Amino acid sequence: MEKISFVIPIYNEEGNIEELFKELTCVADMLKHPYEILLVDDCSSDGSLGIIKVLAARHKQVRYLSFENNCGQSAALYAGFQHADGDIIITMDADLQNDPADIPTLLQHFGEYDMINGWRADRQDTLSKKIGSRIGNFVRNRLTWETIHDTGCSLKVMRASMLKEIRIFRGLHRFLPTLMRLEGARVLEVPVHHRARVHGVSKYNNLQRGIEGLYDVIAVRWMIKRHLKVRIKEFND
Ligand code: UDP
Ligand code: MG
Repeated sequence: MEKISFVIPIYNEEGNIEELFKELTCVADMLKHPYEILLVDDCSSDGSLGIIKVLAARHKQVRYLSFENNCGQSAALYAGFQHADGDIIITMDADLQNDPADIPTLLQHFGEYDMINGWRADRQDTLSKKIGSRIGNFVRNRLTWETIHDTGCSLKVMRASMLKEIRIFRGLHRFLPTLMRLEGARVLEVPVHHRARVHGVSKYNNLQRGIEGLYDVIAVRWMIKRHLKVRIKEFND
């Protein structure tokens, strides 16, 4: 049975980690897969690391990494991907906005698809965030020939062997469906629940996300155009 690695980036989420662990293990224990939970602390300045260490000491399925400095969500995910030893990698935010109860539904499609991306159809965020995200997805889709409604949804199920081939740079976690497709992945979007953030604060604002996102989209457009599509016709050993 394929092993699952849950990879969760954490930056100042002390109010959320224990509840997330409870909800996630409740769902994961019911899956028929062995699993690990990889908590990646992106140099939190609150009590997150202390809570992570207690969980890791008490539960053998919990592993953790902690950064020396704050490197951002893409870096936390990338480090997690490289350290994960599962065949399937599932990502989600640490802030309880994603609902672990959606995982079995997403997993049903794994096999037929190599990546299943959540789609927050009824998103519980501020209006400005929802508008910003709409514009972001529209521009991203137009410039990268994509059709993904909600690339920012962190709840994603991915084939580890493909994901580990991707070199991720800052900001590129927002392009994972496209980068996975470049690796040959079949990608599906599935509607998922979304909850309002109760503890802690969002780490992003629209302006910063917009400026960085535009820069990133140009890089990804270049990657798609320059992607090597080699199909070997013949070879000898
Ligand atoms: N995060 C991180 N490093 C950062 C910023 C965010 O690891 O520098 C984590 C954060 O703790 C959360 C996830 O990335 O688990 C998404 O962040 P956030 O919820 O602030 O983003 P939003 O949902 O508001 O887009
Ligand atoms: Mg969030």
